[in-house]
Amino acid sequence: MPPILIGVSRMTFAYSAGTVPVSTLGTPRIGPRRELKSALESYWSGTTDAAALQDTAARLRAANWARQKALGIANIPSNDFSLYDHVLDTAVMVGAIPAAYGWSGGPVPLDTYFAMARGSQGAAQAEAAQAEGCAHGHAHPHAHGVPALEMTKWFDTNYHYMVPEFARGQRFVLAATKPVEEYREAKALGYETRPVLLGPVSFLRLGKAKEERLDPLSLLGELLPVYVEVLRRLCASGAAWVQIDEPCLVTDLDAPARAALREAYGFFAHALPRLKIMLTPYFGGLGANLDTALALPVAGLHLDLVRAPEQLREVAAKARAGLVLSLGIVDGRNVWRANLPELLDTLEPLVRRRGTDHVEIAPSCSLLHVPIDLAQETGLDPEVKSWLAFAVQKMEELVTLGTALSGGRDVVLDKLLQSGAAARARKASPKVHNGAVAARLAAVTPEMARRASPFDTRAGRQRARLGLPLFPTTTIGSFPQTREVRQARAAHGRGELSAVAYEALLKQEATRAIRWQEEIGLDVLVHGEFERNDMVQYFGEQLSGFAFTRHGWVQSYGSRYVRPPILFGDVSRPAPMTVEWWRFAQSLTDRPVKGMLTGPVTILNWSFVRDDLPRSTACRQIALAIRDEVTNLEAAGAAMIQIDEAAIREGLPLRRADWEAYLGWAVESFRLCASGVRDETQIHTHMCYSEFNDIIAAIAAMDADVISIETSRSKMELLDAFVDYRYPNEIGPGVYDIHAPRVPPVAEMVDLLEKAVRRLAPAQLWVNPDCGLKTRQWDEVRPALVNMVAAAHRLRERP
Ligand code: GLN
Ligand code: ZN
Repeated sequence: MPPILIGVSRMTFAYSAGTVPVSTLGTPRIGPRRELKSALESYWSGTTDAAALQDTAARLRAANWARQKALGIANIPSNDFSLYDHVLDTAVMVGAIPAAYGWSGGPVPLDTYFAMARGSQGAAQAEAAQAEGCAHGHAHPHAHGVPALEMTKWFDTNYHYMVPEFARGQRFVLAATKPVEEYREAKALGYETRPVLLGPVSFLRLGKAKEERLDPLSLLGELLPVYVEVLRRLCASGAAWVQIDEPCLVTDLDAPARAALREAYGFFAHALPRLKIMLTPYFGGLGANLDTALALPVAGLHLDLVRAPEQLREVAAKARAGLVLSLGIVDGRNVWRANLPELLDTLEPLVRRRGTDHVEIAPSCSLLHVPIDLAQETGLDPEVKSWLAFAVQKMEELVTLGTALSGGRDVVLDKLLQSGAAARARKASPKVHNGAVAARLAAVTPEMARRASPFDTRAGRQRARLGLPLFPTTTIGSFPQTREVRQARAAHGRGELSAVAYEALLKQEATRAIRWQEEIGLDVLVHGEFERNDMVQYFGEQLSGFAFTRHGWVQSYGSRYVRPPILFGDVSRPAPMTVEWWRFAQSLTDRPVKGMLTGPVTILNWSFVRDDLPRSTACRQIALAIRDEVTNLEAAGAAMIQIDEAAIREGLPLRRADWEAYLGWAVESFRLCASGVRDETQIHTHMCYSEFNDIIAAIAAMDADVISIETSRSKMELLDAFVDYRYPNEIGPGVYDIHAPRVPPVAEMVDLLEKAVRRLAPAQLWVNPDCGLKTRQWDEVRPALVNMVAAAHRLRERP
């Protein structure tokens, strides 16, 4: 394996007393060239052994430490690394390993760890299922035999963690000492680090109880001694400080949760009076938990001052004099370069007041959520590039700030001036601002976000136009992207396959897909999305205002990484993006072919977005661009247009008080893009697995004529939200789980559909799989869809 790049181009900065220490809170684990992914995948496939995997992991950690040391980071974290997920690491550390994984004490085998992450048998199938992830790269892993733990989103990020599972009578034991081992590993290499642990209260709150009336927090007393044991060993190994992350502090906490925090940190202080804890909440402000946090017996408190700059004043006023404040002022969740002179102006008075030994500066949160090194991006527009900072650049910014705050302004004057100049240039750049977009946005009227007629009228007209049978059958859009297609796309990208040859292959695939859908008797067809690498990137690449990286990977889950588009400027659509594909597909068949688009909220939620504009404004801009596409598809003759909003639920803010505002503009954006069509044109939308209960009113307000949702694994329980709400429009509850290779038998799908019919009117129902079929194989999809069509026929034939 080639050496791991560490991307450090500056000389070592001598850290000494009187300087403001810089922390990173956590760094990306995946390696600048996705070294961890390669190592994991070759281990899983049996090509390499555990030693090779551990060797790569150790080299990544060492490179991470070396990079930070060379940059001048004072508080270098350890135990921020993970082979798969840090929540899973914590569960394993405390022995929260469900019985199904067959662990009975002693060291936890690597394969037990990976079984929790990915399931334990049918590894080859699990591999196939994960090879491309779900259609959008944010999927759930599935395996056979012992299933993996559940996976869900880490707060409001696109990182997914494995959900710890607790049973009644749950016991915790120290089962793995990874934090201690990694601390010692760093020490042996000459790095003094500050170990990071996920805090006990956040850990319990992130987990779920197997039994209904078991409150995970009730297990705190059982859990704390294990944490104390870890902390004790860290102390014994020489750690003076430990960073304990409690992101739950930025969410709505009730009194028992606050009491749990007091209990946990009181317990630690009592057991280990000399250990210094940097309590680290992030992803927002402390809000109503501020007094609770300030009263905890810890040595330091981190503040996310990017998401919640306003809390600084109150905290500074209330914090006891000895408390070290970690000021999270560089955005750990986004890719923009900071405006250092501006930050200095905010920080200087505070540092002067509290003294350099009672402040630290840091990113707002761990740098896990940003790509590693901008220097690798040789293909970016240099102007756009000059506005960006990835993890390495953010560390450099922090060190520059730290130096300036420690009386070294002159030393870093050039850097400060450059930073200020870049910020001014970005603000003024014509690449960012497009007067026509602003004018168009200003001219939006409420009517533009409203269909001409209410649903009933539209449904009647659509029925007359389309003449579909009861229980119409369709799919969500994508068909298997075979190796051939992916290889052709890659070759085309490298310039080794001509556009003509690439397009010919895609057309051949689309033609086959259409023929085949006709043959098995689907009612509403799709062209198959063979031309799309990713449902967001495909659009981003054709819209102005987006930039794409080559190496800007961030971890989505385990070995799945995504490269979010960077939304840097006003969005417009220079030319139609999908119309020709739709036209081609429709020319092959008399059955209706759905136009297939990604919605504005999903594009926004899966991108790095502007920090100089409210999210709502960026979303409306995208909505207008997609609206143009919708209108063009309609003009080309499309009778049905699907606008996927897979990520609406994902974008919900962490605090309930902020939900209404978000849902308000999210729904309005969808309606803005969907409402430019005639009554006869049927608008579809699709949502992946979500807690629909939380957003059912918003879904109804989106007013799509048809929505398809992921429901099969919940045995149609997810439909209840729609039933209880008396959702009036048409629904296609997914009848087969596309995440697994298994072919569902007809009877099973009939059964699910009957469940649906008991809850909703037959005229409301569509028949479709859970999600797109991009990651499946043709020989799985074929029999499954044949069965699905048969199931729909059975329902039609019922008395
Ligand atoms: N149309 C997309 C597809 O079929 C939808 C995927 C999604 O929402 N996850 O792949
Ligand atoms: Zn989906």
